[in-house]
Amino acid sequence: MSQESSLRSLLSDSPLPQSEARLLMAYILEKYYQLPRSALLSRDDMVLSLEAILQWQELQSKRLAGNPIAYLIGKRGFHDIELFVAPGVLIPRPETELLVEIGLQEIERLHGPVKVLDLGTGSGAIALAIANANPHALVTATDQSSEALVIARTNAQLLKLEARVQLMQGSWYGALSDNAQFDIILSNPPYISALDPHLKQGDLRFEPVSALTDHASGLTCLEAIIAGAKDHLNPNGLIVLEHGFDQSDVIFELLLKGNFRNIKKHQDLSGHNRAVSARA
Ligand code: GLN
Repeated sequence: MSQESSLRSLLSDSPLPQSEARLLMAYILEKYYQLPRSALLSRDDMVLSLEAILQWQELQSKRLAGNPIAYLIGKRGFHDIELFVAPGVLIPRPETELLVEIGLQEIERLHGPVKVLDLGTGSGAIALAIANANPHALVTATDQSSEALVIARTNAQLLKLEARVQLMQGSWYGALSDNAQFDIILSNPPYISALDPHLKQGDLRFEPVSALTDHASGLTCLEAIIAGAKDHLNPNGLIVLEHGFDQSDVIFELLLKGNFRNIKKHQDLSGHNRAVSARA
């Protein structure tokens, strides 16, 4: 084979940003050669098979057409775990690790077994990150999408957390029995307004629209979750909701009107208001 098909030249000839090209090539090295990411450097004179080169070209074209990297390589790191992701679920965002951290602090504060509810679990990101980080967490995770639940179940199995993460299908609390009670409710619901131009940009164009927007003002899902929370929270139970950067005042007010106590705003790593927590 010619020099041009060496790993090094394929990477340097790529029209993609090098960081992205390397992520896609690492995926190919793992898939076709069972090689770790470090082979990008240690084996950079390696000549790839025709099959691997064809796959490389296909992945590059898909990426150039805008497909998210996480869907192309089928995985995304989140908190301390790696999740399998596919087009039926939202790609977990680093901002959402804030909910995981707040949830974990509360689990530590409570000691002993703690019942946690993750509403709209998607890939299972929040539920599984929590269960993975603290063995006292007993998590129930819901989603109305059966496609999402298949992916969440796959992740629970891959991470060997099925025993402590129960998956249920339905819309918000509709998935639960009436008397189900929790110490903590967490949710990152669809909160983008239907009119937000971001829905037509970047990765969001490829993600399930029902995971991103309520097809209205952006507040309907958050309102529904707040309205039903007291029926499923133990006394002094904690609710933590992720929201859009400009929604914190409205969520704060909704919780105040719902007679929640100890309402707090939390900022993400970029300094945006990103979550509100409150106690029943
Ligand atoms: N809970 C999942 C996540 O945060 C899915 C959220 C969603 O689909 N809106 O990634």
